[in-house]
Amino acid sequence: MNRTLVIVKPDAVERGLVGEVLARLERRQLRLVAAELRLIDLATARRHYAEHEGKPFIEGVIALLTRSPALVAIVEGPGETWKVVRAMIGATNPAEAAPGTIRGDLAVDMSQNVIHGSDSAESAQREIAIFFPHLA
Ligand code: ATP
Ligand code: MG
Repeated sequence: MNRTLVIVKPDAVERGLVGEVLARLERRQLRLVAAELRLIDLATARRHYAEHEGKPFIEGVIALLTRSPALVAIVEGPGETWKVVRAMIGATNPAEAAPGTIRGDLAVDMSQNVIHGSDSAESAQREIAIFFPHLA
């Protein structure tokens, strides 16, 4: 079994979409290993999005992720779980995300795109260590 990190972002928690997003993942037969509603602090958000430091959109992304509680979770499945989750999430820009994907069905705005999923097995390992050090 392989694990990946998922964050149901504050915009989605505010809209009451936690159940909808988790239900989609669970219906796909991905199992929840850990899940916690928490206010992500600035330092943790910056560490999480370290690859984007210096890019023009970074401050907006950090502000979004820290503005209200997010649902941080680890999901587990057979095969390349990170890849399955990314396919379910859809394109970064919800306006371009295919219908049937989480962003393609639930979002339209790049800065409020509902969910984060790790983008590689290495990212999954790194991000799980950030948010759930006891499970890394
Ligand atoms: P995430 O890491 O949140 O799952 P992603 O992997 O699809 O999203 P990244 O390239 O990692 O996309 O970008 C992180 C976040 O930064 C995106 O979710 C989006 O909100 C924002 N973002 C990315 N590119 C842009 C851009 N060109 N303009 C504005 N915001 C952007
Ligand atoms: Mg990313």
